[in-house]
Amino acid sequence: MKFSGKNVLVTGASRGIGAAIAKELASYGLKVWINYRSGAEAADKVKDEIITNGGCAAVVKADVTNEAEFVDMIKTIIDCDGELSYLVNNAGITKDKLALRMSLEDFTSVIDANLTSAFIGCREALKTMSKARFGSVVNISSIVGEMGNAGQVNYSASKGGLNTMTKSFAKEGSARGIRYNCITPGFIATDMTDELKPEIKAEYEKNIPLKRFGEAKEVADAVAFLLSDHSSYITGEILKVNGGLYV
Ligand code: NAP
Repeated sequence: MKFSGKNVLVTGASRGIGAAIAKELASYGLKVWINYRSGAEAADKVKDEIITNGGCAAVVKADVTNEAEFVDMIKTIIDCDGELSYLVNNAGITKDKLALRMSLEDFTSVIDANLTSAFIGCREALKTMSKARFGSVVNISSIVGEMGNAGQVNYSASKGGLNTMTKSFAKEGSARGIRYNCITPGFIATDMTDELKPEIKAEYEKNIPLKRFGEAKEVADAVAFLLSDHSSYITGEILKVNGGLYV
């Protein structure tokens, strides 16, 4: 896969889908900045694996819900590399509960982690990538942002907002040579879905046309395509990676 840019920041890359994205992008020769919030050891492990495989990586701590920390993280990258070519807004959380039992804090904390953080990242990318008139951003959304889900009023609102926010950023970024796209994974085997009860997992698997949960690597493959030169005429797109669960 061909990349005209040189480096990428992946938020929430200490484990799960973010770690798989970091490793995938490093395999194409990009320098990868691995962001984490609390999992320093896990982030270092991702970095070590990339370096062992001949890639280039650095670790950077920031809570992406904190505007100052996010802005500082981008500044650190620019100070070191002189530019930021690509951004993947991947960090995210769930706090599942039926709406009747959901507190306002349960709602707003998920909006902050999944949507407000991506707003900060998309805006900062617009500022910094405008200088080079080049860049590509991928936001990791969710199938739940397209179809809704009981117990996930907060999460679906955050991801639905992320989908349309991506389209708006695509419209603002296009004149500056910056593309914004979204990926909506279905059920992917990570810590996040490990929390599901086995009987609920089995029920989901039955309903997925490909009859299995996806692998984080399968999301990473789609991210690589949307960042790369091979998708140079694609912006404002929402790409489903869901085994056919929602088409
Ligand atoms: P995960 O295994 O729970 O990992 C989440 C990652 O996000 C961790 O690296 C965590 O870092 C980081 N993170 C969370 N809040 C953060 C914050 N405020 N600042 C910085 N980093 C933060 O989750 P995952 O399954 O890989 O999910 C990754 C993304 O894919 C999320 O946006 C999720 O909504 C989306 N997604 C997942 C699935 C799925 O089935 N797994 C499906 C659709 C969409 P620390 O460990 O350092 O806290």
